[in-house]
Parts: sequence; structure tokens; C-alpha cells
Amino acid sequence: MHEYDAIIAGASFAGLAVADILEGDILLIDRKDIGTRQTSACATFTSVLEELGCRNSIIQEFDTITLHIPEEKKVELIEPISTFDYEKFCKIIAQRMHAKTLKASVKGVSRDVVMTDAGNFSSQCIIDCTGWKAVLASSIRNDYVDRSKLAFGIESEVDYTDDSLHFFVDPDIIAQGAAWIFPTGRKSRIGVASYAGKTRILPQLSGFIKTLGLEISEIHGGYIPFGLREPVVDNLFMAGDSAGMAPPTTSEGIRPTINFARECARIVQNIVYGDKTLKNGLMEYRDIVNKSKNRYKWLLNMQTPLLDNLVPGTIKKAACNRIFSKIFQKMYLGA
Ligand SMILES: Cc1cc2nc3c(=O)[nH]c(=O)nc-3n(C[C@H](O)[C@H](O)[C@H](O)COP(=O)(O)OP(=O)(O)OC[C@H]3O[C@@H](n4cnc5c(N)ncnc54)[C@H](O)[C@@H]3O)c2cc1C
Repeated sequence: MHEYDAIIAGASFAGLAVADILEGDILLIDRKDIGTRQTSACATFTSVLEELGCRNSIIQEFDTITLHIPEEKKVELIEPISTFDYEKFCKIIAQRMHAKTLKASVKGVSRDVVMTDAGNFSSQCIIDCTGWKAVLASSIRNDYVDRSKLAFGIESEVDYTDDSLHFFVDPDIIAQGAAWIFPTGRKSRIGVASYAGKTRILPQLSGFIKTLGLEISEIHGGYIPFGLREPVVDNLFMAGDSAGMAPPTTSEGIRPTINFARECARIVQNIVYGDKTLKNGLMEYRDIVNKSKNRYKWLLNMQTPLLDNLVPGTIKKAACNRIFSKIFQKMYLGA
């Protein structure tokens, strides 16, 4: 059996961000071709895309977000957000990384052996980036995925233009959920998500799109875990949705996924170079991720009252106020 310096399972945001940094004999495994089968609305802070050298994937950039909670209020962003092309983003990273890629489905892990439908591979450093299902961690701990903490979202790309992002918390569109309009030039990604984890939300999406005088087109989406999970499971590093890194309330998973994945990669690189033991590396990574626990808890505590429409209108109005919204955004971004 070939022994790699590191094995990364999953080649989307988390897996690619790790592979981008790692040097050595690295294996990156995904069941699909890199950059295909987009699930996300793909909007993130422009600075995240720039720092990764992925500016070319940007489609449209925004300085404002219009909140409809449910009253409409345009809020200035303290940092611009961009919608981007998922395939381009992935290919920019895939073309420059050094990892060897394998198209295969991972099945589980036993100590330092990753089992796939294309054979078994071993490494002391294994990073589970398989998304909400956390395939490798779940093969060790079958209760690792807390199914009560899964939101479910779908969206469709339709002909609609706008110069602002839109985010809705409006029970008339979807109960215990959120909706969005994220413009991408001549089209917009329009979606709805149920934070109660309901999967039959197609009627809500088509209803919402109809209110804009449009017809639904092809749809994509999936589960979005909320609530930070354990970032280390036995000898596994967990990054991205597999570790529940999308913040509650906003489900803005791409930025934290990439940031934590890059921290993970730096630690793994030290282990590969022999400058750090696996045990110390796992502990260091757990400490880094867990420093954000309180911020995730704070957002989780906000999620239910906001979605159940229990937040008084005066507080919602204040949150959209120019000064308070800036404070809120700074707190949210951890600045
Ligand atoms: C509808 C929707 C809209 C969203 N919009 C936004 C947004 O606008 N902005 C934002 O910041 N976040 C958004 N998110 C959240 C964001 O998409 C996720 O947080 C992000 O995709 C997490 O990246 P990841 O790499 O951890 O997981 P994923 O993107 O889920 O990637 C997991 C990878 O693992 C692979 N994989 C899975 N199982 C196996 C297996 N058994 N074997 C091999 N490979 C496997 C998959 O093929 C995939 O490539 C949205 C999510 C949804 C569902």
C-alpha cells in the first residue's frame, strides 16, 4: 500500500484550500471531477478570493446587502462581497497545487488507512473535507453528525439583475428559514433554506421566484451543518462543512472553511517536514478552531429567535442602523 505524506478526502473549498498549501507526496481524493456539481450560491468576501489569487473567478462585486427581515433595509458592507464562478475558482487552485488527484469515493478510515472504492491508501496525516456527511469521521464515530443541526438549502439561477445582495428572513417566503438573491451579472442565484432541515422546499423556492415574475430553472443545493463540530476525531483533521464551520444564522461557510483549512494545512506541513508530531499538530489545530467556539455559540443563540420571528422589530431596525450594523459586522468577522 502506498504511504502518502498526507491524504485529503474531498476536493471542494476545504480540500482545495488544504491542497493549495501542502507540499510533498499528497493525495487528494474526490468522487467527482474538481469544479463540478456546485452546491453553493458562491458569495464570499472579495478579500478571501483575492488572498487565494482567485480574483479571476469573480462575477459581480457588492458594497451593500439589502436585508428583508422582513422590512427592507439596505446595509453598507464594511468589506465587499463577491459572487464567483465555482468551476473557475476550483480550477485556478487545482492547476497550481502539487497534490496527486484520484477520482474515487472514500468509504471510511481505520487508523492511518483510508478506504476507497479504488483501493486503500495510508498516511499519518488525514484531512476529512468531505462536507456535511463527514464520511471519514462518521466511520469512526457514527454519532459525529448531529442531524438536528442541519439546514437544507436549494437555489436556481434565473434571469434577474440587481446591484445589491438580498437576504430575507420572512415567514411568508419560508418558515424557519431564509431566502436570498445573489446576482451574478445577467442572472441571479435565488434560493431558500430551511433551518429546520426540511428538504421539501421546492414549492417555497418556486413560489418565491414567481413573486419576482420569473420561472424556476435548474436547481442545486444540499445540507448545510450549523454548530461547530469537534475539529479533531482520533487522528483525523476535520475542515469545512465536515467540521460544521458554516456560521449559524448566515450559513456563510466558504470564508471560515478556507481560513481554517489553511491553518490546518500549515500545521500538517510542519508534521510532514518532521518539525511537529502528529499529536501536537492535532492539539494545536483543535485549539485554533475552538477559539471561535463562542462566536459560533453567539450566532446559534441568535438563529432560533430570528427565524421564529421572536426578535422585536425595534431590535431588528437597530441592527440595520448604519452604526450598529458596522459594529455587528465587525463582531461577526471577529475583527
Ligand atoms: C444552497 C447553498 C448555498 C450556499 N451559499 C453559500 C454562499 O453564498 N456563501 C458561503 O459562504 N457559503 C454558502 N454555502 C455554504 C458553503 O457552500 C459550504 O459551507 C461549503 O461548500 C463548504 O465547503 P466544503 O469543502 O467543506 O464542503 P463541500 O463543498 O460540500 O465539498 C465536499 C467535497 O467532498 C466530496 N465528497 C463527499 N463525499 C465524498 C466521498 N464519499 N468520497 C469522495 N469525495 C466525497 C464532494 O464531492 C465535494 O467535492 C451554501 C450552501 C448551500 C447548500
